[in-house]
Amino acid sequence: MSYNIFVKSSSNAFRALPNTDTLLQSAELSEVIDVYGRNAVKAAIREELEYLRAEISDNNSAVINQVLQENFFGITCGDIVNRLKSTEDNTLIPVINLTGTVIHTNLGRARLPERAVTAMSLVASNPSNLEYNLESGKRGDRDSHVEKLLCDITGAEAATVVNNNAAAVLLVLNTLAVNREVIISRGELVEIGGAFRIPEVMISANCILREIGTTNRTHLKDYQSAINSNTSVVMKVHTSNYEIKGFTSSISETELSALARENNLHFVSDLGSGTLVDIAKYGLPKEPTVSDALKEGANVVTFSGDKLLGGPQAGLIVGKKSLIQKIKQNPLKRALRVDKVTIAALAEVLKLYTDPDRLPERLPLLKSLVRDTKEIQELAEKLLPFFVGALASIAEVTIKPCKSQIGSGALPLDLLESSSLVLKPLASEGKTDVKLQSLAKKFRGLSTPVVGRLHDGKLIFDLRCLEDESELLDLLNSTSWS
Ligand SMILES: *Cc1c(COP(=O)(O)O)cnc(C)c1O
Repeated sequence: MSYNIFVKSSSNAFRALPNTDTLLQSAELSEVIDVYGRNAVKAAIREELEYLRAEISDNNSAVINQVLQENFFGITCGDIVNRLKSTEDNTLIPVINLTGTVIHTNLGRARLPERAVTAMSLVASNPSNLEYNLESGKRGDRDSHVEKLLCDITGAEAATVVNNNAAAVLLVLNTLAVNREVIISRGELVEIGGAFRIPEVMISANCILREIGTTNRTHLKDYQSAINSNTSVVMKVHTSNYEIKGFTSSISETELSALARENNLHFVSDLGSGTLVDIAKYGLPKEPTVSDALKEGANVVTFSGDKLLGGPQAGLIVGKKSLIQKIKQNPLKRALRVDKVTIAALAEVLKLYTDPDRLPERLPLLKSLVRDTKEIQELAEKLLPFFVGALASIAEVTIKPCKSQIGSGALPLDLLESSSLVLKPLASEGKTDVKLQSLAKKFRGLSTPVVGRLHDGKLIFDLRCLEDESELLDLLNSTSWS
């Protein structure tokens, strides 16, 4: 009996669906055809009808009832318009990073300074002298816009730029060691997030990986005995995303570079997060600088543009002129090169490094990293009553000290004292995890999503990276939380 009713209503529903042409010619959709174009409207109609058919087949009674309503045609036209509008929505949007990880790869790493954004916008909307020498009127070199700055700051003889540091390592190895051996300590065969694993990059670069020593100890004699007539590169990878402690031994850069020199090998150092200034002077943990690595004898150094440097996504390669020249001539360079917008941003960020004293005020990344704990604590106190008020019926909110991470494999073991708002869903009958997940999801679903960290049954909002709290307060007050 009930089965028959269902069959009847679902076949009625199928029959009630309008066809594409009827919708396309309807008065309700004529205006949107002017806005979005006929093809786009037609595609949206098809999608909507497909969706409705699938739901009817699935016995979705809500949809079946809706289709059988009298005003169904109007509702469907409205849904089609919404589909068209949502295709205009960006999927890449700003979020508020309250995770406590300052350089967060999934959240886009470094925020750029305003002057970099202005420079990007100018070259994006105008022709530029990207590869045009204004003096000679001939073809120029896109690296020229950043090479001198990089050399001045690091003391390198020459420099070039590619799309990211993974590309930089790939390009350097493919240029200096194709079909030849690269010696590297087993303690440095790291994986850096996602797909970047040193052994796999070696394969992609067509190099032969010659791993030596052990995970915790590698000696100079291990390097010495690995050298043969097919060896080309001695490589050092800065293992920034983990640390081996205890009974350990590794060889200093100075010793390695001497060994490489005696044997006519290239000494390449992948610094990863590579910073251009000694960040210890801002009270941050010590991290080797690019100029240190060069002084210690590296012939080529690679590092990221958007980790500790605080610039756009890029891979920077600095070192000896003859080697950089070869690297630039590798056809892969053309495939890995950066665009004008990146170069514009990078040049502006590099210029800030010529005045290191003012860097913490001018470089957003460093500003977040050196932010005074007391200031973050005061911000937490200022926000607390608003959070308590807005979330009263669903969560308990308190202030707790916490620790921020620098992030992106940069010094993960060194944590920065910070302050957080801790949101604990009110416990009624069990299901606190479901409540916690839905609270976190609700914050992620705001018009500017707010991303925190889940820990120990609580949603933690580390306030280190929150510079302007007014938007967060607006979001909090304009949302219904119960
Ligand atoms: C992060 C990192 C990379 C990869 O850099 P991307 O800019 O993310 O491509 C390579 N090597 C080391 C040591 C790193 O820390």
